[in-house]
Amino acid sequence: MKNSSEKKELLKRIPKTDKLLENLTDTIPQRLRLSVCRRVLDELRRKILSDEIKKESELSFERVLKRVQDELNRAMRPSLRPVVNATGVVVHTNLGRSLLTKEIFEEIFDVAVNYSNLEYDLEKGKRGSRYSHVEAILCELTGAEAALVVNNNAAAVLLTLETLAKGKEVIVSRGELVEIGGSFRIPDVMARSGAILREVGATNRTHLRDYENAINENTALLMKVHQSNFAVVGFTKKVSMKELKELGKRHEIPVIEDLGSGNLVDLTPYGFIHEPTVQESLRAGADLVTFSGDKMLGGPQAGIIVGKRDLVERIKKNPMNRAVRIDKLTLAGLEAVLRIYRDPKKALKEIPTLRMLTMSFEETKRRARRLLRLIKAKVGDEALELGYRDTTSRVGGGAMPLQVLKSRAVFIKSARRELPVSLVEKRLRSERIPIITRIEDEGIIFDTRTIKDEEFKLIADSIKRVIEKG
Ligand SMILES: *Cc1c(COP(=O)(O)O)cnc(C)c1O
Repeated sequence: MKNSSEKKELLKRIPKTDKLLENLTDTIPQRLRLSVCRRVLDELRRKILSDEIKKESELSFERVLKRVQDELNRAMRPSLRPVVNATGVVVHTNLGRSLLTKEIFEEIFDVAVNYSNLEYDLEKGKRGSRYSHVEAILCELTGAEAALVVNNNAAAVLLTLETLAKGKEVIVSRGELVEIGGSFRIPDVMARSGAILREVGATNRTHLRDYENAINENTALLMKVHQSNFAVVGFTKKVSMKELKELGKRHEIPVIEDLGSGNLVDLTPYGFIHEPTVQESLRAGADLVTFSGDKMLGGPQAGIIVGKRDLVERIKKNPMNRAVRIDKLTLAGLEAVLRIYRDPKKALKEIPTLRMLTMSFEETKRRARRLLRLIKAKVGDEALELGYRDTTSRVGGGAMPLQVLKSRAVFIKSARRELPVSLVEKRLRSERIPIITRIEDEGIIFDTRTIKDEEFKLIADSIKRVIEKG
């Protein structure tokens, strides 16, 4: 414990604000320089008084200046920035879900820096519709009569229910009352839309007669919701879209399906559990299908509504549509991605989400070998325990929770006791381009499925820095 006169001496040693300011580059705004200097000096004062700073050397001009410069660099860099996803979760909701490519981005760029025909009909020379740019291709790809795109799928569901079922009943199976996360729950969205949820069946089993018995003169819709992020196994029964459509037809009630992720390509040839594609749902009779643009579709954030023309037109005219409308940059990105889907083989190669999802185990082995070699070349065996781990990547995005994607990962563990795994993980996360990893077996896993080719070298460099930092 220092006495008060010793503390006073230390306080006097704190560098002066003016002197620090003189040594800072004036490319940084004056106000920011001043506020960061003050913050750093206040912190030093507080630490002296609480006895956390004991040595005068901690107050040297060079050290304090470096602190200020580091803080300023941090303050100047964007808050939202790229990270490396080494977790193996492909549609990682916290890490931005889906990636676009440079080619897709070029189309967005052109629309961003130029005026565009966003709402202008070039043939007629007058006002056009922003939805026209993707409606035809969505119909072509899915077989729907009409289509509409909005801000995200949550908005698509809300808008659909508000338009078609406000003040009326919507029948949904109890096994499909899903919560997606971030407070999107079917019963809550239903309530917000003004529709009345009529739940039928049991959690594990719902029969056609359950829907039939619930139909009355106030029924507006029969609705199916994709279970997305959970599965009910064992003694279960679901009603198929085909059966539900027959029932709806008899009673003249539209049938809608919220597919959530909404695939356009059947992935069963790549070892995936069968999921109804958007086309299949429509063919089975769905009058409307809603799905996300940035889950397994692999595009930008958007909500897509496809189906019967009369229903889509009613939704388009809903004044609430304006509040959830799609932005022009998203629209450009979505159109670019949809155009790739015209050739499904090309889609599997060129859309990052699909490429990562369908990557074979063999390919992850090759990639893991490459990463291991790069790390070995940078960091010696003494500093690091290095090897492989076979692991499972995940689809993510609240889709296909049971799907197993076998993957080979690189495993590292610091050989030094003073460098525990949690510290290595944290340091990787604090790199200029942060690397997000998984901890397994008291070491760190780099699942190469979600790592981009150009990131391999960067990972090896970061590991070297992190290990050698001491
Ligand atoms: C993910 C999901 C949504 C929400 O979609 P966002 O694009 O995230 O708004 C809605 N319904 C289901 C079934 C989902 O899986």
